[in-house]
Amino acid sequence: MSPTEPDQTRYIFVTGGVVSSLGKGIAAASLGVLLKERGLRVTLQKLDPYINVDPGTLSPLQHGEVFVTEDGAETDLDLGHYERFIDANLSQDNNTTTGRIYRTVIDAERHGDYLGRTVQVIPHITDEIKRSVSVLGTGHDIVISEVGGTVGDIESLPFLEGIRQFRQEVGSRALHVHLTLVPYISAAGELKTKPTQHSVRELMQTGIQPAVLICRTEHPLDEDIKAKIAGFTNVDPAGVIEARDVETIYEVPLEFRRQRLDDFVLSRFGMTAPAPDLTAWKHIVERIKAPSRGAVRIAVVGKYTELVDAYKSVEQALIHGGIEHDVEVAIDWIASEELETGLDPGFLSEYHGLLVPGGFGDRGIEGMVTAIRWARENGLPFLGICLGLQCAVIEFARNVVGLKGAHSFEFDQASPHPVICLMDEQRNVITKGGTMRLGSYVAKLGADSRAAKVYGSSEITERHRHRYEVNNDYRSRLGEKGLAFSATSLDSKLVEMIELPGHPWFVGSQFHPELKSRPTRAHPLFASFIEAGAIRAQVADTPRAAALGA
Ligand code: GLN
Repeated sequence: MSPTEPDQTRYIFVTGGVVSSLGKGIAAASLGVLLKERGLRVTLQKLDPYINVDPGTLSPLQHGEVFVTEDGAETDLDLGHYERFIDANLSQDNNTTTGRIYRTVIDAERHGDYLGRTVQVIPHITDEIKRSVSVLGTGHDIVISEVGGTVGDIESLPFLEGIRQFRQEVGSRALHVHLTLVPYISAAGELKTKPTQHSVRELMQTGIQPAVLICRTEHPLDEDIKAKIAGFTNVDPAGVIEARDVETIYEVPLEFRRQRLDDFVLSRFGMTAPAPDLTAWKHIVERIKAPSRGAVRIAVVGKYTELVDAYKSVEQALIHGGIEHDVEVAIDWIASEELETGLDPGFLSEYHGLLVPGGFGDRGIEGMVTAIRWARENGLPFLGICLGLQCAVIEFARNVVGLKGAHSFEFDQASPHPVICLMDEQRNVITKGGTMRLGSYVAKLGADSRAAKVYGSSEITERHRHRYEVNNDYRSRLGEKGLAFSATSLDSKLVEMIELPGHPWFVGSQFHPELKSRPTRAHPLFASFIEAGAIRAQVADTPRAAALGA
């Protein structure tokens, strides 16, 4: 561990057992919310056992979306939950992987830092794991570190050993939370605790005694079951928490508070803090569960639609837009390829907005272009994000400017009109990992643009993750026909946003606004897009709707 590890910081380690996908990230983030709302400085971290240095080169269909932080780290999607829940910007330090840990150790070995010694998992890898946790101690009262995967996986063993040692070294300043499943067997009409017992036993074999068990269940855990689980696992009954399925993830902090999870954790740490104020969270949950203004139907036409996790932040940002305007947002995920194999774009008339999200590779591109054309020609509110902006430019170039064969250099290197091209600094880049334009950049907004109105500002910072850009050689031709470049980089060289002035709401962004949206503070672009959808849906009027010019 780092010799500079602050001696007041408390550490919470979250592991999972029985099966994956129990919502460990949401559980960790929800505990984070409660502690933060009690006035503590909280941060969250994800320790991923895979060997990739980061998830940047992983298919979103395998691992869900790649969440990009302000400092340009390509991270696990759980960081998106963390940021949205504790309303804080995280960084590269908040996500590490086996690959990154090993790379650091091997680089040090090559540098000669271990001269004469054999480099081993214990202590060198585990020391680096502990260091990656303790660096977050500075400036925080509570560090919550979630270990990816489930207990029993070979890959997670060094992490489990690392966090075991950590607790050994800092004593009662660290505790372990374990998330398990308590399944309901309908034939027997009973909840079964055996998988939880096995999972905790497996964890204990690594030398870790959990202080808290968070039990995922479809049915309430009565006091008898809680006592039974506590008895088998040496956990205080007050530390056995029921985590029943809820309608919205934003309800989980309220559920944990109802069971006083935060009180239990603080008492274990010997800390006191004022009770949390969860008014904002109650408001979020009420708005999601019972919006008063009706529904706005959004079609998301993209390429990774089989797995909603691939668009986690887009989904959440749309929901946030709904919270802001008190409408339900009903999202349908449509594979763009379907528009290439017979689906008529007229199906979009049933929707109040079209969103084309980011993506890589040429599969489904023509379907996105077809959908965007329909939205442009039929006044359907459209939000294009990154690849979505690029497809909107391709569509406009082909069908409005008349540039036959216009395309992105990414998909057609022989296109006569590469309206989307490679950035200069990307031309000689061969390595794929971590080499895109990543992280936060400043953009300036055109004075009379919708963008400036929506943001209420002339300058913004937004997060990026892309290699290709609008080709400046085509800007004047596109502009003459009515495509407005409503935001650019400060030096005007890179297009950051496009819009169509005559259209009810047609906006594209080269950056990813969804990454900065929060349930308490919908991103302005998403809020405005949903409002435009509400106008199209003619849900009950509001002063804001009138201001936007229905
Ligand atoms: N593939 C495109 C690029 O690299 C778009 C990336 C994205 O949508 N995130 O520029």
